[in-house]
Amino acid sequence: MSDDVLVPRFAAFRSTIFAEMTALANRTGAINLGQGFPDSEGPAELLSAAAVAVLSGRNQYPPLPGVPELRTAIAEQRWSDYGTPYDPDTEILVTAGATEAIAAAIAALVPAGDEVLVFEPYYDSYGAAITLAGARRRTVRLRPENDRFTFDPEELAAAVTPRTRAVLVNTPHNPTGTVLTPAELAHIAELCRRHDLIAITDEVYEHLTYDGIRHVPLASLPGMAERTLTISSAGKTFNVTGWKVGWVCGPQRMVAAVRTVKQYLTFAGGTPFQYAVAAVLPDRRRWLDDLRARLSAARDTLRDTLTSAGWRCFSCEGTYFLQADARSVGYRDGIALCQDLAIEAGVVAIPSSAFHADPAAGQELIRFAFCKSPAVIATAAKRLAGFADTQHEEGMAPWWLARRSA
Ligand code: PMP
Repeated sequence: MSDDVLVPRFAAFRSTIFAEMTALANRTGAINLGQGFPDSEGPAELLSAAAVAVLSGRNQYPPLPGVPELRTAIAEQRWSDYGTPYDPDTEILVTAGATEAIAAAIAALVPAGDEVLVFEPYYDSYGAAITLAGARRRTVRLRPENDRFTFDPEELAAAVTPRTRAVLVNTPHNPTGTVLTPAELAHIAELCRRHDLIAITDEVYEHLTYDGIRHVPLASLPGMAERTLTISSAGKTFNVTGWKVGWVCGPQRMVAAVRTVKQYLTFAGGTPFQYAVAAVLPDRRRWLDDLRARLSAARDTLRDTLTSAGWRCFSCEGTYFLQADARSVGYRDGIALCQDLAIEAGVVAIPSSAFHADPAAGQELIRFAFCKSPAVIATAAKRLAGFADTQHEEGMAPWWLARRSA
């Protein structure tokens, strides 16, 4: 038997740049602004609720759809934040993070050979989830317009074929930081209604929006509730990315289909964590106001320090992520820049090509995660500014020089 036992359709997913960059951070001792996980704890009440749940014997299988307390808390949150009603018994399903929800949703709702429309760049699990389902991916590019990434509605409309079954929408968006506006969502909704498409939305950063911008769920638009599966999770909302408590909300027939697939992926899990999230979700507001303030301050420090040093940064309306243009510090290739940054500046970032099906696309961009403490962000920003200064002194950054002389 050959050593290479991986089936060919997964060959393209073999190595991830995330693992490579994390290894580089560990090897060099660089500050890791690569993978998006916070370096501070979630609310104390959440952590103690989990400990209490473990110690009070909440340790066996939860019901397949999730513990009723959590489903009720999710229904309350969706209703009070967005006015979208869900029946906790039939229209909500708890999953092993948003990742399982996305994979189960595609497998349950998209027949093999049919197409899923995704906006590129996209979170790396989407491609693998579509492949796992035997479905096909069609991409629509997000491109910067005045430094904010958006799509061309005509390009979106042209991507629909008779085989298109679903559109997968992530807002707030990783890695671009775009929060789709009601007008942008209306284009997507109109297309879904016109072609009778399913929408699957990834809203894991729903609460992490800045500068007064508000997240709008696609399901809240006219005619969308009956065709949209809304996915979110507790990881980003409460700084517990390792807990993997996610959920799916949608019409009964769609949620039942996802439940059928999910049943044989993991069945159910994370009982004490489900109880803990149920206990704090109703009291989320003060925690979230504080979290948003801390994250937007970190974004500002990073963006402002980098911009003053000649980096070109893109707009960031939400999420943990800020993208920058490698060309502004004299590089054409984000991978080469990330390797040099780890060694010469002591900061690890992710090349945005990791979020593209076509590795040549997004080649000039890199992504920083700013979900870190103020001291870590300040140090990283200073190092990145110093790196830019060195590059500019060597006369390697035409974009910056052109701007400075303008
Ligand atoms: N979707 C997006 C856009 C993400 O950025 C992430 C986490 N980085 C996930 C889904 C995964 O969520 P979870 O950890 O709940 O599976």
